[in-house]
Amino acid sequence: MISYWERTAWSDPHDLVIVGAGITGSSTALHYLRRHPDASVVLLERAAHPGGASTRNAGFTTFGTVGEGLDDLAHEPEADVVDRIRRRYEGLRLLQQELPAAETGHRMTGGHELFLDEADFERCAAEIPRFNRYLKDISGQADVYAATRINGKPAISIAIEGHLHSGRLMQALHRRVREAGGRIQWGMPVAGVEPGHVHLVSGETIQARRILVATNGFTGSIPGMPVVHPARGLVLVVRGEGMERWTGSWHAERGFVYWRDVEDGLLIGGGRHLDIPGERTMEAGVNPVIHEYLWHFLHDTLGVRVEAVTDQWSGIMGFPEGRKTPHLAQPMPGVWVAAGLSGMGVALGMALGKEVAGEMGEG
Ligand SMILES: Cc1cc2nc3c(=O)[nH]c(=O)nc-3n(C[C@H](O)[C@H](O)[C@H](O)COP(=O)(O)OP(=O)(O)OC[C@H]3O[C@@H](n4cnc5c(N)ncnc54)[C@H](O)[C@@H]3O)c2cc1C
Repeated sequence: MISYWERTAWSDPHDLVIVGAGITGSSTALHYLRRHPDASVVLLERAAHPGGASTRNAGFTTFGTVGEGLDDLAHEPEADVVDRIRRRYEGLRLLQQELPAAETGHRMTGGHELFLDEADFERCAAEIPRFNRYLKDISGQADVYAATRINGKPAISIAIEGHLHSGRLMQALHRRVREAGGRIQWGMPVAGVEPGHVHLVSGETIQARRILVATNGFTGSIPGMPVVHPARGLVLVVRGEGMERWTGSWHAERGFVYWRDVEDGLLIGGGRHLDIPGERTMEAGVNPVIHEYLWHFLHDTLGVRVEAVTDQWSGIMGFPEGRKTPHLAQPMPGVWVAAGLSGMGVALGMALGKEVAGEMGEG
């Protein structure tokens, strides 16, 4: 039962309710408010603090390595692979235009794909001209990728890659949403949606003319949405002797392992390829096999003598069934879903949000 005062002051439906305040949902809110400055836009986030991949990732601003691109070409038509590289590149440019480096901590460090196997390196290095052609067409820049050797190991350098502080990025984005007139409500888990209504786990219902589900790896918990498989990723931040040799942005094992410098340490993550079925979960946690693998990788491959693990966490990515390109669909009238960013959301999230805001139309 609601009071007269509540009904007359609050009961109007919102123009847009977004489930999930990660980079996709928040970017949609921002771009929708740019188009409709007087709209009533509310973001519902289940956690009391940010809890999705957007604040649990590694913060690489990357459009991909040669090895990752070659793997994709084995499963997808070339046009789709090149389109995704373009989307990532353009998504990163949009992100940088909207949120300057002073706010996100973005640095163009340059990147490297490191190879543990000479034959694999030779195979990938032979394809560098092809990937340089893609990037020249997309960015106008020549020779983005180049073969090299780093710390005694074969590598492919990536001239235009960097990293940022994911927490500062999301703080800046949420600030923009609030300045534009949007509201973010924390601690509001959603149980389900139907046209015109968002049902909270608490039993309450919120009315909305438009609804966006932007829950990425958690989309399976909202009935009626397309399939998005959760995929857990583990990240550690360590301090130790030898870490100074690895400043910048680094990838190995087709992007399944990555490491970079942070303010006072070395961040390393990934290893999901060791147990893909076991990591298909929405539960936070540490897989001991993967933890041990990352530990050995630090010691044996990178030559880092770890003195302290200062941080350790897991984050949940979302992968659409059978493809890597995110869903942007309207499964019910007035209800959209934008999810399944396949571990590329720093690059794709802002542009996807802008696209969704455009798709939602006028009025
Ligand atoms: C370990 C790891 C490393 C990564 N590294 C990189 C990287 O270096 N570069 C890169 O480009 N990408 C990276 N990614 C991927 C990137 O972080 C994601 O693609 C991106 O953050 C997805 O954003 P999103 O807003 O779609 O989803 P999320 O950020 O997951 O946001 C979804 C939100 O919905 C909320 N939610 C879920 N269910 C409900 C519900 N029922 N009710 C209300 N709220 C709900 C969640 O709490 C969450 O905050 C990484 C991901 C992980 C996990």
